Amino acid sequence: MSDNHYDVLVLGSGPAGLTAAIYAARADLKPLVLEGHQPGGQLTITTDVENYPGFPTGIMGPQLMEDMRKQAQNFGAVTKFERAEKVDFSKRPFTVFGESETYTADAVIISTGASAKLLGLESETRLMGRGVSACATCDGFFFRDKEIIVVGGGDSAMEEANFLTKFASKVYLMHRREEFRASKIMVAKAKANPKVELMLNSTIEEIIGDENVTAVKVKNTKTGDVNEMKIDGVFMAIGHVPNTQIFDMMEKDETGYLITKPDSTYTSIEGVFACGDVQDHVYRQAITAAGSGCMAAIDAERWLEAQES
Ligand code: NAP
Repeated sequence: MSDNHYDVLVLGSGPAGLTAAIYAARADLKPLVLEGHQPGGQLTITTDVENYPGFPTGIMGPQLMEDMRKQAQNFGAVTKFERAEKVDFSKRPFTVFGESETYTADAVIISTGASAKLLGLESETRLMGRGVSACATCDGFFFRDKEIIVVGGGDSAMEEANFLTKFASKVYLMHRREEFRASKIMVAKAKANPKVELMLNSTIEEIIGDENVTAVKVKNTKTGDVNEMKIDGVFMAIGHVPNTQIFDMMEKDETGYLITKPDSTYTSIEGVFACGDVQDHVYRQAITAAGSGCMAAIDAERWLEAQES
């Protein structure tokens, strides 16, 4: 075996990966976590996390992730700021090619997550967490009695627009064309909500604000007219992309999410497990990701044990 051989290699360092690392480390599997380029994952781009159990007054997303990382390290997990660029799962031990080194492992836990699609505006990145959000469940609470825009025309946009009316005084549902991609029933529900106003044939050209979002520049896609509109927040609901580009040899669903066997974290390749958002487009919560990370470590531990006997 090479010097770079591990019992368990965890790819990704969001709540799923770090929980998997905590459990694997406590099972004496000395996991190595390749953290990727955004250590801590999506929670590091949110502010207060108020729905993670155990923190009655909330916790900042980056703090929660730093604590999880320390917890994993305290039990012997090694974390490395490195991204997996390529994998070879065709034979065991498995090989993972990082940016700087190559690793082998008896079991691999994939927790590379998903990334919310964004519009690609500079102002959007700058104001992320200051009025721009890609997670209504995480940040809706901060927009009580405020006016906000939800961008998108799919089921997520409909769902988030409805959900956000619990807090916001007004939700503008902005879609770039006239027909919705969302299912009819979801569109009907959004349309029936008195706090939701549709803005069709519209896109955001720019988000304005120094400290926080104060306005947006909206372009009419039919006429080309651009107008400024005062607003307190902008929620992106234009889809997510699972980070599975390097796992082409694995079974995925039609949108690219890894498929796991029911009630487990087993993937289509024996010895490779998946947890968190990379295999979940339904719940997408830190707590569900952490829960499935725990499952992946237990599945890996039991599978490794079975290989030895
Ligand atoms: P989606 O179905 O891919 O819809 C994305 C929406 O965002 C589309 O309307 C698209 O516009 C728009 N969009 C994409 N890129 C854009 C851009 N750069 N600028 C402006 N608009 C942009 O994604 P989703 O709504 O997240 O749904 C993903 C999957 O989860 C779907 O299968 C959905 O049915 C499912 N889902 C189900 C439920 C539910 O049943 N409760 C809830 C949420 C999600 P165009 O239409 O013009 O392409």
